[in-house]
Amino acid sequence: MSDNLLFPAKPTVSAEIHNSDKRFPVNRIFCVGRNYLAHAIEMGTTVDKTSMEPFYFLKDNSALIPSGSTIPYPPMTSNFHYEMEFVVAIDKPGFNVSEDQADDIVFGYACGLDMTRRDLQQKGKDGGKPWDFGKNFENAAVLSTIYPKSQIGVISQGPIELRVNGATKQSSDLNMLIWNVREVIADLSKYYHLEPGDLIYTGTPEGVGPVIAGDKIEGSIAKLGGIELTIKK
Ligand code: MN
Repeated sequence: MSDNLLFPAKPTVSAEIHNSDKRFPVNRIFCVGRNYLAHAIEMGTTVDKTSMEPFYFLKDNSALIPSGSTIPYPPMTSNFHYEMEFVVAIDKPGFNVSEDQADDIVFGYACGLDMTRRDLQQKGKDGGKPWDFGKNFENAAVLSTIYPKSQIGVISQGPIELRVNGATKQSSDLNMLIWNVREVIADLSKYYHLEPGDLIYTGTPEGVGPVIAGDKIEGSIAKLGGIELTIKK
């Protein structure tokens, strides 16, 4: 079927699954913007859930790299930021999913880093232009091992933390999410037919900041082990 491709297609992007020989093939990467109030405030804005809806951006699955990677400092930025995030992995199709049924399409959970060229994101915001160059670039979506819901249950609370070179920078709890996982799935599935392999990065708590060459980032979320990323010297 595909023996007439002009050049070889890229291999399927996939992620490790805890306690399994199988791997999770990654389809799309959805990211929620401003989903912790204290982070919205540190970014110079606010969120009123009664009058606002969640918003999203996407990353290509080619931006994905596994925890433990060492990456070069990315091009065309001088303000490269970490954002520690709780990631939800979808393994069933879902469209107009109700909050009550949202957990049924969740395979499991992981730690993620939504790496951001903050200066390019800000340039987009200032000009009323897209965020893509600030958010969607090589190595910008770091992902840990996925922990199946069947092994650890439904996760809706617990500490989320990030350290740089051992110093704590982000420390919050998943119960501080403005829109929780069920609400995000119900909302996002109005706009997209969610598919097996989709990932949702659910947003970052307060304390985002820059990293420089040589820095080591470590993050953890309750029950999910951890995530690591090193910026090459
Ligand atoms: Mn983010």
